Amino acid sequence: MNISEKIFSLRKKLHDHSYRYYVLDDPLISDYDFDMMLKELERLEEENPEYFDVNSPTQRVGGSVTKSFITSVHSTPMYSLDNSYSLEDLKEWEKRIKKIIDTQIEYTCELKFDGVSINLTYKEGELVRAVTRGDGVKGDDVTNNVKTIPTVPLKLRGDFKGEFEARGEIVMPISGFNKLNLSRVENGEEPFKNPRNTASGSLKLQDSKEVSNRPLECLLYSVEDPKLFNNHIEFLQNAKSYGFNIYNNYKHSTSLDEIFEFIEHWEKNRSGLPFEIDGVVLKVNDFYQREVLGFTSKFPRWAMAYKFKPENTGTRLNSISFQVGRTGSITPVANLEPVNLAGTIVKRASLHNADFIESMDIRVGDFVYVEKGGDIIPKITNVDKSKRALDSKKFEFPEFCPECGSKLQRLEGEANHYCLNYNGCKPQIIGRIQHYISRKALDIEGLGQETVALLVNNGLINNYSDLYDLRFDQIVGLERMAEKSANNLINGILDSKNIPFERVLYGLGIRYVGETVAKKLAKHFENIDNILNSDFEKLISVDEIGEKIAKSIIEFSQNEQNIEIINSLKNHNIQFEIDDSAKNISSILLGKSFVVSGVFSNFSRDEIKKLIETNGGKISSSISSKTTYLVAGSNMGPSKKEKAEKLNIKIISETELTNLISGQNLLF
Ligand code: AMP
Ligand code: ZN
Repeated sequence: MNISEKIFSLRKKLHDHSYRYYVLDDPLISDYDFDMMLKELERLEEENPEYFDVNSPTQRVGGSVTKSFITSVHSTPMYSLDNSYSLEDLKEWEKRIKKIIDTQIEYTCELKFDGVSINLTYKEGELVRAVTRGDGVKGDDVTNNVKTIPTVPLKLRGDFKGEFEARGEIVMPISGFNKLNLSRVENGEEPFKNPRNTASGSLKLQDSKEVSNRPLECLLYSVEDPKLFNNHIEFLQNAKSYGFNIYNNYKHSTSLDEIFEFIEHWEKNRSGLPFEIDGVVLKVNDFYQREVLGFTSKFPRWAMAYKFKPENTGTRLNSISFQVGRTGSITPVANLEPVNLAGTIVKRASLHNADFIESMDIRVGDFVYVEKGGDIIPKITNVDKSKRALDSKKFEFPEFCPECGSKLQRLEGEANHYCLNYNGCKPQIIGRIQHYISRKALDIEGLGQETVALLVNNGLINNYSDLYDLRFDQIVGLERMAEKSANNLINGILDSKNIPFERVLYGLGIRYVGETVAKKLAKHFENIDNILNSDFEKLISVDEIGEKIAKSIIEFSQNEQNIEIINSLKNHNIQFEIDDSAKNISSILLGKSFVVSGVFSNFSRDEIKKLIETNGGKISSSISSKTTYLVAGSNMGPSKKEKAEKLNIKIISETELTNLISGQNLLF
């Protein structure tokens, strides 16, 4: 076998094995053997870049970064579904469609997967595009991210001609969601709210490598071209053989009563499913009948969603307590008489803020209804006022911080109350240090969130710069702090001195300075003093830095204690300046936007991108009218080239790019 045959054969084998594993749930080889095969393919592809294939199994691991997603118009709109809530509603619907169709109607009935819908387009059997529903008419092109989802076939099985377009739902199974949250909590990150939002947020991540670590699954439910099949059942069966993931609990019947049994069964048993559903979808099975029925302006007449009622139950509100966040925000929390709701014991529910409590007139001692909708955190939906005690009193939001006793403030335009005792309120002090050590900030290994609280409570630290003065003899012997853990902690703290400036900046916990803003600021100002000495005008002149952020930075820099802490961090040699490799070499490409495509001979694709960025240029993943140059290597996708030509965008080679940068070019 020559190299190309070897590569093609490995690809085919890997596609087949992954189909057996993910769709048929019937693997033939061990995970280890699979990984070995994949590694070998990776190696061969790396050594022979001329055989690059965007849909190779090696592309599942991600790596491409999409800065902004391009909009793509759907070939046919992605409609929403009409909703029903009772058997009566369904009978009404049947009556309506039977007025139009006088032959017998068969229904198919599927679970209504609670995720995000996706439109998948294949050409000659190859995945070419994955687009979100968006506003129904146009959505975001998230192809690179969707490719990392193992149940989305990159190549269809069988011999495919022409175009094939199908739609499905991308969900995050509950077990994967819980695992993801567990690791987030361990890393000191906020847990995600619910699987649906997490699935949708994951598709919009810029780094597809990060997406590949999110446990996502695709369940297919519709085909766009009705001419390909006679009916929905035929589509579902064929789609499975093409390599798609089809959830096999669907029902086929002519009787609404029978279908209603199916609905009731799943309404009761949905907590046993591996993913969340929010109802059942009924569809007319026959594609010819569907065509006759057609669409209203909003949804198909031939389909109907049956929405489950959110699960809810009643219980007593025993007391209201308050959480103080690291920014001083006060969140009221309902402490409930423990009650079973959708399989979990619920003890607490968020009360959000004073307005929320006020609008429902919630009082301590009330009998309240809690609901678990899409959100994992239950919410209070109603108060049974008939069960209220005669002497019950209207709830008054506290005037003083429950933790430090200082007067609370409610700022203009904010729903939350805040404790402004920035320097003396313990949960704020602990919260800020916890944020400083978290994974995306200084990532201090060996120091967990609880240990931070322990250290503060033992009077050993009071701010993040105190971490660097901690001594082994002070911490060994504390709760769960044996010699080894104490050593790890000290080493972890020392290692954090190598963390780059942008992450230190994020770790300082300046309000509204999240990861992305920190990156922007670091790149623009290059060191901490330039940031803290900037006035309002200077700050808002930076791309994407708004008034809110600018004000918050100024407030931070006017706090003397913050400046002291930063000076102390400086003395401990924390990185407060971007390193040279991140600094711009020149700004010769300023204001120019580049798309890089294909394989290059003198640079890797990442090197080319870095070259452009460090000379002031912008990288974008897809061509638009804003693109200045398409830097083309060999094996560039034909569609990119076509698009560039259509939009009159200059296509340049890597040599032309380096010439541009060294200033000796004729293109300007
Ligand atoms: P809604 O967003 O409530 O109008 O419901 C319509 C959405 O339900 C569609 O856009 C799909 O994303 C989703 N959906 C989930 N499961 C199915 C299914 N089996 N068939 C059709 N749509 C489904
Ligand atoms: Zn306080």
